[in-house]
Amino acid sequence: MSIHDRTSAFKTAVTTPAKKIIQLKDEHGREKPISEYFGCMTFGLSQMREKLPKEAYTSLLKTLENGKKLNKETSEAAALAIKEWAVSKGVTHFCHWFQPMTGSTAEKHDAFISIQHAYHSELSVIERFTGSQLIQGEPDASSFPSGGMRSTFEARGYTAWDPSSPIFIVEDEQEKTLCIPTVFFGYHGQALDNKTPLLRSVESISDAGCEFLKLIGDIDVKKISCTLGAEQEYFLIDRAFVAQRPDIYMTGRTLLGATSARGQQLEDHYFGSIPSRVKNFMQDSEGELFKLGIPVKTRHNEVAPSQFELAPIFEDVNIAADHNTLTMEVLKRVALKHGFVCLLHEKPFSGINGSGKHNNWSIANDKGENLLEPGHTPHQNLRFLAVLAVVLKAVHDHSDMLRASIAAPGNDHRLGANEAPPAIISAFLGSMLEEILNSIEAGKVLKASEQQLIDLGVSKIPNISKDYTDRNRTSPFAFTGNKFEFRAVGSSANVAVPMTILNAAVAYSFKQAAVTLKDIMKTKANRDEAVLEFIRQSVKESKNIRFDGNGYSEEWKVEAKKRGLPILNTTVDALAVMADKKATAFLVETKVFSAEELASRYHINVERYIKTLDLEHDTMIEMVQSFVIPALEKQLLTFEHTQKAIENEALKKANGRRKSEFEKTFVEVLTSLEEFSEKVNLARQKHNEEERMKEIVTVLQPAAEKLRKACDYAETLVANDLWPLPKYREMLLANSLT
Ligand code: ADP
Ligand code: MG
Repeated sequence: MSIHDRTSAFKTAVTTPAKKIIQLKDEHGREKPISEYFGCMTFGLSQMREKLPKEAYTSLLKTLENGKKLNKETSEAAALAIKEWAVSKGVTHFCHWFQPMTGSTAEKHDAFISIQHAYHSELSVIERFTGSQLIQGEPDASSFPSGGMRSTFEARGYTAWDPSSPIFIVEDEQEKTLCIPTVFFGYHGQALDNKTPLLRSVESISDAGCEFLKLIGDIDVKKISCTLGAEQEYFLIDRAFVAQRPDIYMTGRTLLGATSARGQQLEDHYFGSIPSRVKNFMQDSEGELFKLGIPVKTRHNEVAPSQFELAPIFEDVNIAADHNTLTMEVLKRVALKHGFVCLLHEKPFSGINGSGKHNNWSIANDKGENLLEPGHTPHQNLRFLAVLAVVLKAVHDHSDMLRASIAAPGNDHRLGANEAPPAIISAFLGSMLEEILNSIEAGKVLKASEQQLIDLGVSKIPNISKDYTDRNRTSPFAFTGNKFEFRAVGSSANVAVPMTILNAAVAYSFKQAAVTLKDIMKTKANRDEAVLEFIRQSVKESKNIRFDGNGYSEEWKVEAKKRGLPILNTTVDALAVMADKKATAFLVETKVFSAEELASRYHINVERYIKTLDLEHDTMIEMVQSFVIPALEKQLLTFEHTQKAIENEALKKANGRRKSEFEKTFVEVLTSLEEFSEKVNLARQKHNEEERMKEIVTVLQPAAEKLRKACDYAETLVANDLWPLPKYREMLLANSLT
């Protein structure tokens, strides 16, 4: 890319007018109220109720409630209603939409047609969509990762409709496709996707949670559900620049690039006014999301330049997880139409903040009461504290697996860096709850002057209100008044994965809690007192996981080590937990994963890690060879040339110093490249996957960093018009000029 191309790309970037792609305007050109079109591209339970014969609808509801197989009549009736609705919207194709373990979503499109009859050789078709096409599909599973669970002769995989998540239509200019959310499994019922384990975990937490709640006095509870609101961070970079950066379009992040003098140090981007080009993008993408029934509520600038965030209103975790994957797809798709590329990588640019996905999580009973919300009655408050104790115990006992659930090469750059929660899992509660739990543990209550006390008859517990006093942005798992926020999740992650592990951990903790509580109840006549005793024991056992201080500090690392908390700094360390039978026993016991499924997921993750890093290394080597070095050669010639032409002695000397600094850097680039390439080649000769991973972390990553450092410094020494790659400042600050 010559300076002319780059300048013109920059000009295009900063002068591209904001386009309005999706017209959601009324006849007067006014923006339509969202309520008018919200969910218009979805077909969920309310539409089923409207369109299905009563019997079929009741049968569908039953299926949802007890997980029974859908009967033929119901599925035919549903298929008919769905087809009619879809065809009326101009849909021609349908697909089973699923989430294989590639980390993204998959779809295979079929047309809504079936051959009616053949007259001589003439075919005639009719629009047709059958019950069996709705409920089951059979995509060839052999091209999706199974982690060795399937041998090729058993390559069959099946998709099955998940009626709890609404069916939706994805629109493009040319074409509309009906997407049926499905689970994806193998011939022997092994989960080949991320949704199946999530659904199992929800069932598990419901069963175990109900048993526990009944013990503490909620005798009529029938079901527990988990809620999730996933805040999504992302970068928007101009397409014109990305097209000139092989690292971004091949790996999702910059592998080279000197940091821009202006980064985020002025702290002026967070919540700053949103550039109008970006606002238009947001308006359009949110319009798309509203049509898909995704309740996006909040938008704002994030900390880094060109970084933004979107947050939905929370929903049932299964739906929220589907919605988050859809959100990521919509953001990427709409961004392209606006001349942007939406980067969901956890660390697209070094030196500034990376992106995360804060998972706001809670549990609710079938009355819709949030079990992590302090209540108005003594019982509600006691229940709140008991459930809180159960969750804390879950996080304490399974923090290693929670860490493993967010392990991905992208997140390695973020966890432990300045802007993101550390790789050590701890829970933050806020000073009020800390104080309450500590006093319960010590067997006393707070002074009445500090907290209003509620008389439980036998014991006193404080009246708990939502704590607005403090926030801790450095905690990976923070209580925020009526929910926990799992903040260490990476921006590109499929949220189903960490949510499954969290649910399973809490389910297991509920199970254990029921056993403990039953034992305590044998010794105490009063139930509330027994519950309080349970809370006391439980918070004592999980105390180590609670941390209120600065999670980014060095002292915390020392302290965490002293406390014996797992410190799993890299994906490689974290993935090892997945292969540890003891650490994963709770997942098997809660029936969320079979041992075989766990082993397969471990292998898939290991393989993905190695492939991702191999790709990054190859891309980097190629870029240094074909972009950086040729630029340095040209620069060297201009130095030679200038040096020869200079007559002034002082100037010659000064220029000589510059030249020798440059030459030193050039040498550093060349030798670092040689070293790195050699190490990469050596490492690839290893066949054992574990050894390869270790080699990547301990040998290749430091060598890659050294090479990058040399190249980035060289970038600052090379003439602007000789540098062939868009620079950080251009890519990151274009938005601030529009
Ligand atoms: P905060 O003030 O803690 O940031 P917000 O109300 O802004 O809280 O919510 C942040 C995110 O948490 C939103 O996505 C919101 O929908 C979600 N959220 C709120 N309550 C719950 C809940 N009970 N369960 C799950 N997510 C929730
Ligand atoms: Mg945020």
